[in-house]
Amino acid sequence: MSKFWSPLVNDLVPYVPGEQPKMANLVKLNTNENPFGPSPKVVEAIKAELNDNLRLYPDPEGESLRQTIANYHSLKPEQIFLGNGSDEVLAHIFYGLFQHGEPILFPDITYSFYPVYCGLYDIEGIKVPLTDSFEINPEDYKQANGGVIFPNPNAPTGRYLGLEHVEEILRANPDRVVVVDEAYIDFGGESAITLVDDYPNLLVSQTLSKARSLAGLRVGFAVGNPDLIEALNRVKNSFNSYPLDRLALAGAQAAYEDEAWFQKCCDGVISERERLTKALAELDFEVLPSKANFVLARHKAKSGESLAQGLREQGIIVRHFNKPRIEQFLRITIGTPEQNDALIKGLKSL
Ligand code: PMP
Repeated sequence: MSKFWSPLVNDLVPYVPGEQPKMANLVKLNTNENPFGPSPKVVEAIKAELNDNLRLYPDPEGESLRQTIANYHSLKPEQIFLGNGSDEVLAHIFYGLFQHGEPILFPDITYSFYPVYCGLYDIEGIKVPLTDSFEINPEDYKQANGGVIFPNPNAPTGRYLGLEHVEEILRANPDRVVVVDEAYIDFGGESAITLVDDYPNLLVSQTLSKARSLAGLRVGFAVGNPDLIEALNRVKNSFNSYPLDRLALAGAQAAYEDEAWFQKCCDGVISERERLTKALAELDFEVLPSKANFVLARHKAKSGESLAQGLREQGIIVRHFNKPRIEQFLRITIGTPEQNDALIKGLKSL
């Protein structure tokens, strides 16, 4: 605390991102990055963009990328909003599309950035408990609210909510925006993007950080009715007109133009997830059914904290949360076959 700080800053409780250790040769399975890396075409496109045009500001509206994403999903560019990672898109959503003064609903347990945005904008957040099997129950999202947000699949549980249940939540809240955060949708779930023309209150957020292996480039986007997108543009243009730089715009566009690479990465993660799930079960873990690029798993006898520590001593980093209901669990990002083998071997030795 400092006498120079605004009182608003004194009260902030910021988000703490997962660790990015500096040591080389770690088996890094802690922050849900994609182990297969970006398409070589993305790297080429970024290199081609390293030219004198860097002296010019980028396109503030990202027209070309929005058109590409719109075509990909059979939508119109005015239904797409771009941001510097989906974290930034979510920040603008909390500011511009939730009814301040009324409580926002999100699951307990979920992505820990949501309560942080509530704190930043002084919005009340109601944490809606998951069921005993760690699922979202649509019935619990029928109470009065100023907006609803949940990831699908949820994080860090990995559990997926079928679109018929997403629709139930949308129908229960016709006058409130329902945000489906689809950071992990490409690993086996069905996207709610197909519903945006039917529900003017639906906003879907996606990222290029996971299935498209571009966490370092920082590109996310929201898809919804043009009326919702207009609100997000107003917020963006009151904050930073150029959230995406020229390299990010070029790289993101190339990622959408290499469908074969995208499919290969998703298939690779899904098949490794199924293999790892079986291997963990054989090692006496209970593994929650996941449609994400990670699994949440609990050993029947050994504590999550001691297993995470034991793995770390072998250079294998997984995530352990000191949170009620999941403190016994490990959240393990799906790695390459070699990384997953190292994890299995490491766990066997503990
Ligand atoms: N939503 C969820 C549920 C996430 O887990 C993450 C990644 N930490 C994000 C959004 C943000 O992803 P990014 O800012 O990299 O697009």
